[in-house]
Amino acid sequence: MIVVFLGPPGAGKGTQAAYISAKRDIPQLSTGDMLRAAIAAGSDVGRQAKAIIDRGDLVSDEIVAGIVSERIDMSDCESGFLLDGFPRTIEQAHMLDRILAGKGRDISCVLELVVDEGALVDRLNSRISEAKARGDEVRSDDNVETFQKRLGVYQEQTAPLVPFYEAKGVLKKIDGMQPVEAVSADIDRILDEC
Ligand code: AMP
Repeated sequence: MIVVFLGPPGAGKGTQAAYISAKRDIPQLSTGDMLRAAIAAGSDVGRQAKAIIDRGDLVSDEIVAGIVSERIDMSDCESGFLLDGFPRTIEQAHMLDRILAGKGRDISCVLELVVDEGALVDRLNSRISEAKARGDEVRSDDNVETFQKRLGVYQEQTAPLVPFYEAKGVLKKIDGMQPVEAVSADIDRILDEC
């Protein structure tokens, strides 16, 4: 099963992808996590990505598609995987189609978490307080200014993926404003049908 999560920053993609990954025993491939790991490791990709991520822009399509393509060749992706944060542009969606076609695979379903964007800044502030309370480091792009930028980038570059996947007949919309457990239950039900 190959599942793509769509939704603006703060919609809960990471939380839900982690839940589904654990429940269905398929890996969660978060391009944001992979890029942050590359930055922490000081790799070439990390060095190129750091300033771009910190200002809330998108890393190049070629870099992220390369990372994803390599990752899905690993043996733990054989029975499926969840894409959290990729694709983020129409070009990335075409690249993903080509990558999967080359491996004889296809997307099973695309889950769009639909949220009230006005509520997202409140969610961001909770995420920051929770991270601080746990003693975790707050992400360098988790501040109101960069967040607003990421939201704008989402609307401009990522939201067009909704009609793109609708036209392919694989898009499922989920009310992301419900409590976390209710969102998970909706996703479970949809994936059972996928
Ligand atoms: P995320 O953890 O998904 O919120 O991603 C954090 C940041 O990583 C984004 O704001 C982008 O700068 C970068 N990023 C993650 N995934 C992608 C992608 N598919 N394409 C381009 N940039 C990405």
